[in-house]
Amino acid sequence: MKHYFLAAFVFVVMISLGVSAQTTRVLSPDGLTYLDVKLADGRLSYSAGYRTIVKAKKKGAKADTLDVPMLLDSPLGVYTNVADFSKNLTLIQDSKSDEPIKQTYQLRQGKQSVITSENNDYNLLLSTPAARRSGVQMAVHFRVFNNNIAYCYSFIQTGETSAIVINGEASGFRLPTDATAFICPQSDPMIGWKRTKPSYEEGYIWDEPITKRSGYGHGWTFPCLFHEGDKGWLLISETGVSSNYCGSHLSDATPDGLFTIAFPMEGENNGFGSTGAQLGLADSKISPNDAQAGVTPWRTITFGSTLKPIVETTITWDVVEPLYEPSIDYKGSRNTWSWILWQDPSINYDDQVKFIDLAAELGWEGCLIDGGWYEHIGREGMEKLFAYCKQKGVRPWVWYNSNGGWNDAPQCARQCMHNSIVRKKEMKWLRDNGVAGIKVDFFPGDKQETMRLYEGLLSDANDYGILVICHGCTLPRGWERMYPNYCSSEAVLASENLYFSQGFCDMEARHACLHPFVRNTTGSMEYGGTALQKRLHKEPNKGNTRRTSDVFELATAVAFQSSAQNFALTPRNLTEQPKFEIDFMKQVPTTWDETRFIDGYPGKYIVMARRHADRWYLIAMNAEPAAKTLTLEPAVLSGFAADKAVLLTDGADGQTPQQEPLKLDKKGRITLTLQPQCAAVIY
Ligand code: CA
Repeated sequence: MKHYFLAAFVFVVMISLGVSAQTTRVLSPDGLTYLDVKLADGRLSYSAGYRTIVKAKKKGAKADTLDVPMLLDSPLGVYTNVADFSKNLTLIQDSKSDEPIKQTYQLRQGKQSVITSENNDYNLLLSTPAARRSGVQMAVHFRVFNNNIAYCYSFIQTGETSAIVINGEASGFRLPTDATAFICPQSDPMIGWKRTKPSYEEGYIWDEPITKRSGYGHGWTFPCLFHEGDKGWLLISETGVSSNYCGSHLSDATPDGLFTIAFPMEGENNGFGSTGAQLGLADSKISPNDAQAGVTPWRTITFGSTLKPIVETTITWDVVEPLYEPSIDYKGSRNTWSWILWQDPSINYDDQVKFIDLAAELGWEGCLIDGGWYEHIGREGMEKLFAYCKQKGVRPWVWYNSNGGWNDAPQCARQCMHNSIVRKKEMKWLRDNGVAGIKVDFFPGDKQETMRLYEGLLSDANDYGILVICHGCTLPRGWERMYPNYCSSEAVLASENLYFSQGFCDMEARHACLHPFVRNTTGSMEYGGTALQKRLHKEPNKGNTRRTSDVFELATAVAFQSSAQNFALTPRNLTEQPKFEIDFMKQVPTTWDETRFIDGYPGKYIVMARRHADRWYLIAMNAEPAAKTLTLEPAVLSGFAADKAVLLTDGADGQTPQQEPLKLDKKGRITLTLQPQCAAVIY
């Protein structure tokens, strides 16, 4: 752990005559991302953008740089019960890192397995008259990476006060008013199915003005993607939220384009728990990486002239640290899942045997037994299923209701995961029966009280070597790295809506071409996709009609990142689908060593590639109403061996799924024509 904070502070001369104003510029290690931090009239603010190199007009003259502002002057500060740290601020010290801070770390279950990142730091230590009386100082920590900026606050004890309450933040993000947004509204609390919202399952606004009011009037949930026309793209999110704080979201924008950090709503968790945060103060030796003392979550800003930095960003994990060691060597998992197409009636012993058999047939690692098992299978029946899994070489995954007493979700097992005493008893039973993981549902919002529930649950599960998927839940915020047994979270309108609504099926391709740019780029997404049945029901001629092609569905297995995937395949697929489709699903991995953005536009189309070990998977997906022709250049095809790689397409008509050897033209390129809601896969 680095203890550079404070120790490394360099005193600066305060400008105390007349109007005090100071602006400090911090550049990223490549010099192309800038951050300006301004302290003027007792208020702290920041702005940021990227720099382009302008060629020198005269021979021999130095090239110049041009600032391209992406985030305009935006306020900083925190409202606490000891002082208002948004005004009357004076600088005590500040410091910049002398040279870039480098780190290399492993991320078992994200978009990239080994991540090397580099950043410059800027730290400020501030006070106000009221804060001085209470003996509390506020620090602001900036980290400037290439194409990414993160900042957080920490609070330091200098007197008797060692605990404070955070009531809100002035932290803001100001965008040009002509920017457009791809964002999801925050829902009202305690509405929806059995009063289980908010659960990050709202519809997006697509490329609409940033000043549009959110449907419920509570603002927008992270991550938030913005388009600034020709200048490029900007993504705002949050990471490092532990039991130490609440989860935040963005307010509606003001008419002049300012979004501010919004705290949870009073009504969440059935009205229980504060909307603010209770924070123990740090002593002066603590760095912001010692995540449990005095430190707020990080807010992250990713931007660039293209969408590449957005899709490939690792900022969510770069600024957090593991909060505990993994108790075992956790692995990714492909699971069968009866509930998604066979629904509640399938939660019985015989149908679960069919899906355990399906997992064994596919060579997948697991089978998820969904909600209702407690009533319809019982613990003894489950133990028989666990034994059957063992015999078949398949690891069971088991669904739980997170309640507790926060909403009316009725499914069982309930009252097994809401406190540490019952959890440990349950988890011992799971471990003793060879269960690999749990899927816990119906969490109650974003309050600090709920973050404590998540953290306790994850930490207890790790003690028993159990992986955790969260469902009906908040966005994960750095959790893949913070909690090593964390897999993924729903926090999206997921595949269950294909079963529930034809309208959602009609939108499936658009959503699939949006998630890699927004929801899934800052956190693992438990979507539950790759339905290969044309009608989404247990009976062949019932249910909603899937609009996407077969290869489009195969491509989502690569597009959607989650180290545990609950795929929507059913026993019928084994006899009804072309063999190459099943072969693809038998070997598709769920953990990735590398992720590369190639081309695309949110909600319209995407071309991206992921690597697992030495095998690349390239996908091209078209959600537009017209056919799309794309030429892939040699640079993106170099990872494919000519004699081994295959191309999967839906045929010229978009309805004839086929596999053929990958054939490139003389220049090493390939041109693909994708019909609407169709895709291509190269692997
Ligand atoms: Ca859901």
